[in-house]
This record gives sequence, structure tokens and C-alpha cells, in this order.
Amino acid sequence: MFKVSKRLNSLPPYLFLEIDKAKRIARAAGRDIIDLGIGDPDWPTPKYIIEALYQAAHDPATHRYALDQGMPALRRSIQGWYQRRFAVELNPDSEILPLIGSKEGIAHFPLAFINEGDYSLVPDPCYPPYKGGTIFAGGRPYLLPLLESNGFLPDLAKIPLHIRKKARLIYLNYPNNPTGATAEKDFYREVIAFAKKNKIIVISDLAYSELSYEGYQPASLLEVEGAKDVAIEFHSLSKTYNMTGWRIGWACGNHNLVSALGKVKSNIDSGIFSAIQLAGIAALEGPDEDISKMRSLYQQRRDTLIAGLRSLGWQVTPPRATFYVWIKIPKKTDSVRFSSLLLEKADIIVTPGVGFGKYGEGYIRIALTVGEERIKEAVRRLEKVIEAKTYGTK
Ligand SMILES: *Cc1c(COP(=O)(O)O)cnc(C)c1O
Repeated sequence: MFKVSKRLNSLPPYLFLEIDKAKRIARAAGRDIIDLGIGDPDWPTPKYIIEALYQAAHDPATHRYALDQGMPALRRSIQGWYQRRFAVELNPDSEILPLIGSKEGIAHFPLAFINEGDYSLVPDPCYPPYKGGTIFAGGRPYLLPLLESNGFLPDLAKIPLHIRKKARLIYLNYPNNPTGATAEKDFYREVIAFAKKNKIIVISDLAYSELSYEGYQPASLLEVEGAKDVAIEFHSLSKTYNMTGWRIGWACGNHNLVSALGKVKSNIDSGIFSAIQLAGIAALEGPDEDISKMRSLYQQRRDTLIAGLRSLGWQVTPPRATFYVWIKIPKKTDSVRFSSLLLEKADIIVTPGVGFGKYGEGYIRIALTVGEERIKEAVRRLEKVIEAKTYGTK
């Protein structure tokens, strides 16, 4: 009876709902499912953060609307964290904006800068809100293929002139979900020069900056000279502190970009629960041990999975960061078929690459968010599927 808006209809299909449904049906049937699909840490939030929330929640002052663009104390904490981690100086009053999780800010940002018909330059495959946020704002995503042959970096030289003219935003996400790829400062310099030349805003999604291996330290885009003239960076406590359900993150960088996003948000939400903001301060100022421990545990899982897959004859590159492994699948099948096959024959959930965009076809994504024993079990099950040579053919 009620027709949904064109806007809603023009969103790309959300494959993850389908996978969720298949998973629920399989679980309800009593099958022992190994879920390598979701990018959600399996460990609890560290105790000292939970304790900070508990204490704060007892203070009635935290029970009221949290206005003021995030608590000044939280913004100062973020300032200190950026300075320690990246040697980047940020003004806590004008260059930092706390968010109800970074997804919220990423999805709302285009409302501040996209007019009907403008383009966003969106990497493909990608985290879905880059496309969704652009479409909600009336814009059009122009896809930048992330190809293995180019280290899963977009090739800026291939963007046609007429698109550059109508593009307002470019999204970057390194360390990258879903490919696990990383970017170096040379690439960031190239992007900043491109953005200045074409008057395009750069959006950097840095959700995985702390999940890296073998001592590798991912850079912030804001470390590059001139970045603050054209860029905004999104960060999240979700992956670093196992706080996905808490909903807290932030945007920082160019003050015009940050304040425009603040203006959009002041018309949509009324701030982050103050007790969660105080817990966020505890997280950012807390000890580093939990994070280093988490890194080495993910690294062990990564190494176990890679060794297992290689023993099956699969070619896989170990990621230097993120908790994802991006795997090429046999040519004779496609990613949805292959993922369905793994669920059907091996009770394993993986994410089909095409769920992140058309250039993700030919790959699956495995998340390292289950214990090592389960990863070993998954490899044993995969071996059986491979021996049976039952890949669905096209
Ligand atoms: C998990 C993730 C986020 C973080 O989202 P929150 O809303 O802060 O939980 C942001 N970007 C990417 C690419 C992610 O994978």
C-alpha cells in the first residue's frame, strides 16, 4: 500500500540480511555452525572500561541529554590519543566530534556536502555505508575498483575528468575492510594532491588502525602535510576495545568539515549517553596491554588459518592489519554460490565478496573472530569439501 522512497529502492541489496537468515535457519536446525562471517570481536570489553561505565551510570548527572558536541573531557582525551599515537595535533574545540559509533557519522556526512546528482568516489569492494550515505544524500557513487594487481588501492589516474568535476567526496579505508590491504603515506600524499587539485573532500575511515601485526603501525591520513585542509578522519572504539555494541567513535580533522557534520547531527540525534563517553575516556587513557594481547591473539588465529588454507593448496596473502582474510575462490564458481556451498556442506559461514560490491566478486572474506580451535576445525571441514570437489559450478 505504501511505496517506499526511490532513495530506499536505489540502495544496493543488503546481502548480509540474507546470510543472517540462512545462519538462523541452520542454527535452529541444530547444526554446529562456525561463523567466520561477522566482523565483531568475540572477546568482551576490557573490565576497566565496564567498571568506568558502571561508576558513571550511578551518577545522575549522566542521565540527562548529553549535548555540547560530546563532553569536553572526551574531546581532550581523543586529542591526547591522536598526539601519542600519530603525533597529530588536533584542537579539541573545533577539530574533534564524538559520534554514536563511526558508522553513524560516515553515513550522515554526505548530507552536509552532497547536492542532488553530485558524485562520491567510492572504493569497491567497500564498507556499505559509503554507498548508502551517498545515496541517502541524493548523490551518486562512482566506483573505484580495488584490484589485487594495484594492492587494493584505487587508481586515481583512471577517474575521468567529467567525474572529477562533479565529485565532492572520496572515501579511503586503510587498513581495509574487506581486503585487509594497507596504505602507505606516499599513497596518502597522492590522494591529498588529487583532492586539492579537484576540490574534493577526503574521508578516511581508520577503524582498524590498532589491529595490526608484526609491529606494523598503520598511519593516520592526518599525518600527511596539508591533509587537514581537505580531510576528515573517522575513528571508532569498536574494534580496538571490543566495544561494537556500545556505540562510540569520533570524527576529526578539518574544522569546517567537522562542524558541518556537527550541524547535521544536531538535527538528528541528541548525543552519546554520558556514561559511555566517560567509559570511552577510560578506554583511550587505559593501559595498552589489552590491545597488545589482542593483537597477538588475532595474529595467532591469522597464522593458523593461513597455514591451514595453504596446506589445502589455496593461495592466500596474510593481511598486515585488520581481522579479515580476503580469499580468492575457484574461478568456476561465484562468491554467493561458494559461500552457500560452505554453509551447506561444511556448516561454515563466510561473507561472499560481492556483498561489498561488484569488484568483490571472485573472493570471500573470513573474519578471525572465533577461537583457534574453531579455525582448525573449519580448515578440516574445508578439506572435506575440497576433496569432494563439489564447488557449485556456474
Ligand atoms: C567496524 C567498522 C567501522 C566501525 O563502526 P562503528 O560504527 O564505530 O562500530 C567503521 N568502518 C569500517 C570499515 C568497519 O569495518
